[in-house]
Amino acid sequence: MNILVINCGSSSLKYQLIDSESEEVLAKGLCERIGIDGSAIVHQPKGGDKVTTEVDMPNHTAAVKLVIEKLTDPQVGVIKSLDEIGAVGHRIVHGGEKFATSVVLNDEVLAAIEQCNDLAPLHNPANLIGINSCKEIMPNVPMVGVFDTAFHQTMPKKAYLYGLPLSYYENHKVRRYGFHGTSHDFVSKRAAQILGKDIKELKIIVCHLGNGASVSAVKYGESVDTSMGLTPLEGLIMGTRSGDLDPAIITFIAEKEGISADEVINVCNKKSGVLGLSDGVSSDFRDLSDAASKGNDAAKTALETYAYRVGKYIGAYAAAMNGVDAIVFTAGVGENDSAMRASIAQYIGFLGTSINSEKNKLRGEEVIISEEGSKVAVLVVPTNEELAIARETVRLTGA
Ligand code: ADP
Repeated sequence: MNILVINCGSSSLKYQLIDSESEEVLAKGLCERIGIDGSAIVHQPKGGDKVTTEVDMPNHTAAVKLVIEKLTDPQVGVIKSLDEIGAVGHRIVHGGEKFATSVVLNDEVLAAIEQCNDLAPLHNPANLIGINSCKEIMPNVPMVGVFDTAFHQTMPKKAYLYGLPLSYYENHKVRRYGFHGTSHDFVSKRAAQILGKDIKELKIIVCHLGNGASVSAVKYGESVDTSMGLTPLEGLIMGTRSGDLDPAIITFIAEKEGISADEVINVCNKKSGVLGLSDGVSSDFRDLSDAASKGNDAAKTALETYAYRVGKYIGAYAAAMNGVDAIVFTAGVGENDSAMRASIAQYIGFLGTSINSEKNKLRGEEVIISEEGSKVAVLVVPTNEELAIARETVRLTGA
């Protein structure tokens, strides 16, 4: 049967139709600018070209309707009718403490997800709109929610509590949740398979380095720590996000610049990270490498600062697990940027990692980049969150 995977943002909706048996992507696409002028759907059937159609999408229900139209279109479609969709898997950003695993979506579950909205005000309401739109158009198709936070619910208290008055946790659930869980879970399991070892015997550090970036410590198959916190702003330096900060900076800058604390947080989310550090060169690592190679000092510093932070987190998580057997790089930067991997490797050799510089040149494929005798294995494992969501959807619905 086919699984439709939906990742719904406030004005966008990404989709993939995946054959659950062959695990092939039959079609994928993106609805952009939903509810805004100039909305369009970009659809790509397997083996075919991308087809962009500019069409009015006043809301997410209109977008879902259009996705179904494209999937069943006689020219660019890949199925004959809705009946060929066995189930829908939805990416949901925040499951709070309520969801430690994926769930079949029913009214009770949706109400519980809604209660997590204030923990992810930009993401969860959009995820719910996507779910409700699919329910409207496919009322009889079972749906599953897969949470970015779920995998990290195994973290112990000492890892998830902040050094704040306990009442903030008890009354407001202020704690570390962590994100990218679907990816950390998928990639750590795959790394164990590649190494031919049981994940229950491995201590793995996963570096998910994309636009957003996070590191996790996966001990014997369970997340025991991760770098993102209450929100996805904490931890590593990212494309546009600052990562870890002294919290006193927020009010200090607010006062100096005459802006509100909310505005400073907005800067921390959207204008910081390597974009901010490079003085506006780019949040894209390809542009930064280009600029650095042409002598742009700020771009060079941004890349060095980024690598240093990742290296520090790897060291910290090796301590958190009292050892490490494998370090895995994934997502856009982790999979493709061999110079960045080499730069990070400078900080972690003491753990017993020995990188093979030829193998490290490979991009975007599964590869062990450490030398054969390396005490700690270092791998590149491309992530596939959509496939992970589809697998969870099959597991829970039997579709
Ligand atoms: P997200 O899913 O968080 O939007 P991705 O995992 O797709 O992000 O990662 C996107 C980032 O990956 C881009 O910002 C870019 O900097 C980086 N990237 C992609 N390809 C390359 C490459 N060939 N070399 C260096 N960086 C790359």
